[in-house]
Amino acid sequence: MIFSHGTVITMNPLREIIEDGALVVSGDRIAAVGKTAELRSRYPDAEEVDVGGHIVMPGLIDTHVHLAQTMLRGVSEGKRLPDFSSWLFARIFPLQGSYSEADAAASARLGILEMLKSGTTGFVECLLAERYGFDGIAEVCVTSGIRAALGKVAMAVSPETRDELGWHHGMWQTRESSIQQTLDAHDRWEGAGDGRLQVWFGCRSAEPACDLTLYDEVSELARARDMGITVHLAELPADNDFARSLGFRSHVELAGGHGLLGPRTVLAHCTVADGDDHRLLASTGTSVSHNPANNASAAWGPAAVTDMLEAGVNVALGCDAAPSNANLDLLRDMRIACHSARQRAGTRLAIGPETVLEMATLNGARALGLGDSLGSLEPGKKADFITIDTDAPHLQPVWNPVATGVFAAQGQDVDTVVINGQTVMRNRVVLTMDEAAVLEDVGGRYRAVAARAGVSGLESEWPTV
Ligand SMILES: [Zn+2]
Repeated sequence: MIFSHGTVITMNPLREIIEDGALVVSGDRIAAVGKTAELRSRYPDAEEVDVGGHIVMPGLIDTHVHLAQTMLRGVSEGKRLPDFSSWLFARIFPLQGSYSEADAAASARLGILEMLKSGTTGFVECLLAERYGFDGIAEVCVTSGIRAALGKVAMAVSPETRDELGWHHGMWQTRESSIQQTLDAHDRWEGAGDGRLQVWFGCRSAEPACDLTLYDEVSELARARDMGITVHLAELPADNDFARSLGFRSHVELAGGHGLLGPRTVLAHCTVADGDDHRLLASTGTSVSHNPANNASAAWGPAAVTDMLEAGVNVALGCDAAPSNANLDLLRDMRIACHSARQRAGTRLAIGPETVLEMATLNGARALGLGDSLGSLEPGKKADFITIDTDAPHLQPVWNPVATGVFAAQGQDVDTVVINGQTVMRNRVVLTMDEAAVLEDVGGRYRAVAARAGVSGLESEWPTV
């Protein structure tokens, strides 16, 4: 199949942009990239899809997602809570802890549908709890056509600590079961969906509640099976205080001391990491998922993105939690990544749309462990790409397609999505999911979850009449 007449942002080593370009897809791979006229003559029998002048770019990779929280979009903005721990323990955990497996699958479907419709072709899920039912969510990933690394929760919090913190019982499980279930899920699902699915350890944060020997055990198991690990790290100043209380210089060094750093690890946030931490992350090949919109919404300090990139850290992007960020629209968050880094540095020269697009594609692919087969449009790589319809007032004129894609385009401008060679969306219609059914399912569930959880204060504080 030949996708013709596009402006192709290849992200190849020369970063070539091909006007009136085309991609030839054979099976799950890209067979050729070049000018439309040349490829049509080389592949005269290929079925042609004319993309009508759209921008064509690699699919976006979101390296930090909480699928179960998509159904909680907006719950942080009724009666607002003052800090992270009250937000988590008094609101989010009771809600998620009251989910049935069907609720979790409904939330996952909603999140995956939103990602597909806004150009995300692959993602890292951070924390799938036992009560969500791993198999149901893995099945949604397989049938939707998306590429995913599913982080199944691994935790080591004692029942006494759990109760002291007021940790909702529905969000807690034992160390033994959390590890065993991850290994079992890995046995069942790794490589499913024609290789699109990976199963990772999604460790709970390195916090005072956690027995840190968990990380030694998990990192050893992950290395033996070549599994990925993802964990929230160095999010807030309290994380560094905790690490220092144990004799480590920083939270990042604590992670290194327990085996967590390495090329198969993605650390979410790293907002309080400093220059020494950045050097350690770079030297170990550890990836960082930068979540600019979520961080800004939660009023966390802006991460030192440009410092991390300069130090050689593989920094990718993530949308994080829908209750905080509201959307899983990585096109929108690319713009916020650029704006927030410039604001922090006080200069437009701090970062450009080219670097941000690299973070959302090439760096995301490396974070997934797929740097050799994903992230750019080159012959031999997996056929994961999107097209953006620029025939709209907010996108014209197109002086520079990279700037248009990063600064002006929104998720709703994505027209076509191809993953692993399969056309998953065409003309904004997702071909692998029943959009109306997904929305109807969520609509029938979200208030019932809040009622079961006994959580209030989720709606507008203004009078609803
Ligand atoms: Zn998160």
